[in-house]
Amino acid sequence: MKYQYIFGPVPSRRLGISLGIDPIPFKTCTYNCVYCECGATTNLTTERKEYIPVKDIIAELKDYLDGNPKLDYITFSGSGEPTLNIGIGKIIDFLKGNYPQYKIAVLTNGSLLYQKEVRDEIIRADLVMPSLDAVSEQAFRRINRADNRLDIQKIIYGLIEFRKEFKGGIWLEIFIVPGINDTDSELKLLREDIMKINPTYVQINSLDRPGTENWVKPINSVSLKKVVSYFKDLPVEVIGNFKSREKIASFDHNIEERIIATIRRRPCTAEDLSETLGIHINEINKYLQSLLERNIIKVQNLERGFFFKIKNR
Ligand code: SF4
Repeated sequence: MKYQYIFGPVPSRRLGISLGIDPIPFKTCTYNCVYCECGATTNLTTERKEYIPVKDIIAELKDYLDGNPKLDYITFSGSGEPTLNIGIGKIIDFLKGNYPQYKIAVLTNGSLLYQKEVRDEIIRADLVMPSLDAVSEQAFRRINRADNRLDIQKIIYGLIEFRKEFKGGIWLEIFIVPGINDTDSELKLLREDIMKINPTYVQINSLDRPGTENWVKPINSVSLKKVVSYFKDLPVEVIGNFKSREKIASFDHNIEERIIATIRRRPCTAEDLSETLGIHINEINKYLQSLLERNIIKVQNLERGFFFKIKNR
C-alpha cells in the first residue's frame, strides 16, 4: 500500500522512532510562523473540518501497524496544524482501541485548545507538544502571524485549561526569534504565563535551518543562556542538545543517500525533494537538518525558496 497520510518512521531528536500522521493538506494552518520549515502558509484558517478523510488515514495506519513495527511514538504532525482535522479524536480512539501498545504524541501550535471539543479530542494522547512563542499580542502577531480570529489570551487560556484536564505529558516549546521574543519584557511575560500553564517540560528551540523569512536568525549562545536563565526554576531543556538523529534506530541511510544523490545532480528545495523522492516533507526536513549539522550540504536563498546543495570540501 502506498501511504499518503502517514510517513516515516522518522528519526526524531525528541521522540526517537516516530511514525508521523499528517491529517491536514500541505500548509493549512492557523498560523503562518516566520520560522516555519515548511514555507509560507497557503491556507490560513481556523475552520475545522475533515480535511483528509479519517477512514483513509485509519486504513493506512491499519496496514502499517498490523506489521507490528517497533516505534517509540505515533505522532500527529505534518505541514500544518493537525487539530484542524475534526476527526483527530476518532483517529486517536482507533489507535488506543486497536494498538494500545503504542504511545501517541500530538505536535500542535495549541491555538485551538481554547475550544473544549478540541481538548476532549486529544485528551487520550500520551504526550502533547504545544508551542507558545510570545505572550504580548504584538510579539505574537510578528512571530506567528495568526489568523485574525485568534488572540493570544484565548490561546493561553486554552493551554491552562488543557493542563487541568490532561493527565499526560505536556512539552511546551518556545521558538526564540532573536530581537522579538528574547527581550526581558517578553521573557518575563512568558515565564509568568508558563508558570500558570505548568507544563512537564519547557523546551527552547531556535533556528537551525532556514525558515520562511530569511531575516530570522539563530539565537547566539549568550542570548540562549539568558533565555534559559528565565526558566531556570522550571524543567527547561534546549532542543539542540538532544541526541543526534544519526544515532536513532529509524535513521535511514538509504533516504539520506537518495537526497544526496538528487541534490548532487541539481540544487533542490525541500519541496522538490519531497516530490521527486515521494517522501513526506517533514521526513525530508529531518534528513536535511542532519546533513546541514554535519556540514555535508549548504543552503542558498534564491527566488523560488531555499535550495540545498552539496558543500564542496
Ligand atoms: S511552524 Fe507549525 S504552526 Fe507555525 S506555520 Fe508552520 S506548521 Fe503552522
